[in-house]
Amino acid sequence: PVVLFWYRRDLRLHDNAGLYHALRSGQPVLPVFIFDQTILETLDDRNDRRVNFIYQTIQALQEAFTKLGTSLIVRAGKPLEVYRKLLNELPIRAVYTNYDYEVYAKERDQAVADLLRENGVAFHAYKDQTLFDRDEILTGNGSPYTVFTPYSRRWLDKLNHVYLQSYPTEAYVRNFLTINPQPIPTLEALGFQPSKASFPAKTVADRLLAHYKESRDFPAQPGTSELGIHLRFGTISIRELARQAHQQSATFLNELIWRDFYFQVLDHFPHVEKRAFRPAYDHIRWRNHEGEFQRWCEGQTGYPIVDAGMRQLNETGWMHNRVRMITASFLCKHLLIDWRWGEAYFARKLRDYDLAANNGGWQWAAGSGTDAAPYFRVFNPTLQAQKFDPQSDYIRRWVPEFQSLSYPQPMVDHPMARNRAIEVYKKGLAAA
Ligand code: FAD
Repeated sequence: PVVLFWYRRDLRLHDNAGLYHALRSGQPVLPVFIFDQTILETLDDRNDRRVNFIYQTIQALQEAFTKLGTSLIVRAGKPLEVYRKLLNELPIRAVYTNYDYEVYAKERDQAVADLLRENGVAFHAYKDQTLFDRDEILTGNGSPYTVFTPYSRRWLDKLNHVYLQSYPTEAYVRNFLTINPQPIPTLEALGFQPSKASFPAKTVADRLLAHYKESRDFPAQPGTSELGIHLRFGTISIRELARQAHQQSATFLNELIWRDFYFQVLDHFPHVEKRAFRPAYDHIRWRNHEGEFQRWCEGQTGYPIVDAGMRQLNETGWMHNRVRMITASFLCKHLLIDWRWGEAYFARKLRDYDLAANNGGWQWAAGSGTDAAPYFRVFNPTLQAQKFDPQSDYIRRWVPEFQSLSYPQPMVDHPMARNRAIEVYKKGLAAA
């Protein structure tokens, strides 16, 4: 008999909760990864950076497993069908994995767990990608928090060394099943091409954390960790990172709390994936002008900070947080385009794309989310640029022509757009 450890967004050997429990189950362990066709089919870029990142990570894991005398089993397909086959091929006792809080993932896991149960196989899932999840942080009357600040206070109160401890998987690696390395499908066979994208380092320098509080809001500075992609795919451990943050930067730790917060919002309020967190905001009559949306996507709005952000995103797959806020607000308020359009565009492009955080960020910008500012507060992109890019260094890097004749005029006048947004929001909310 064997037990399987099913890798998803936790692509590492060390400090991995589900893997640790599998290795301690008393049965030999085989690690499994499935390239999920359901997800791959939604991607339209053959050079997709995320797929490339996963692929490189899987290859590195396979090397590590080969050294340990075992092998990763890599399959492509719909997980339920892959499990039907695996049940025929291997004497599986149990499947171990880590929780995933997305709606699709919860349904997928339920279907796999049901199939396994019908076949007498147990399914065990663990908390791994967050510090706290599910019902661990609740208000006094037992409901989930819907505002960040009290959530974060409770989160910090509850945090102690137990939650920050690593799972010592390396102490149990002898419990993997001994087998020869199994082949991995090629990237081409999965329908993708190698991209030239390089990825940020897996660590955050002590120096960066020491200055994080002062630097993080200025997009011209390399002031943030760029660890998003590693957190997304679990190539680093949230517990290790939080330990470092806990010692070195309360501001950075606070960002990790935001990450937990949005996971629990998605987990407890799954309707946010498709609709406004605050239902009244579903009544806003968006203008949804396709041509204007295109100009926003391409970074041709005539607002240099907005255009710099969109071009940074298009070229690198990453955008600075301050500029994510400005570009998102501009789309929702200045252009009155449905936040879901922008959310979907970021989802296609961001290498650190994560449904929970992206949805949280977009609903915040649209005003429909948990911590949203009142709808009549509309970011002024020019003032934002003056404040956060005072020398225009960031703008010059991404929009070199911004002071020349070839640069477009602002596509909307700020005072007009501001008033229009307030009117349209007011009407929508009154209709609710
Ligand atoms: P750092 O500043 O170094 O922060 C470290 C880590 O903390 C991040 O990697 C991230 O995991 C977490 N974090 C930081 N800020 C937030 C936040 N506001 N909400 C949740 N987690 C946070 N973050 C994503 O991870 N994926 C997304 O798809 C995403 N989409 C966003 C869309 C919009 C419209 C907005 C306003 C924000 C979005 N964010 C998203 C949050 C934030 O912008 C990014 O996490 C951050 O810019 C990533 O860069 P970094 O790794 O250098 O962050």
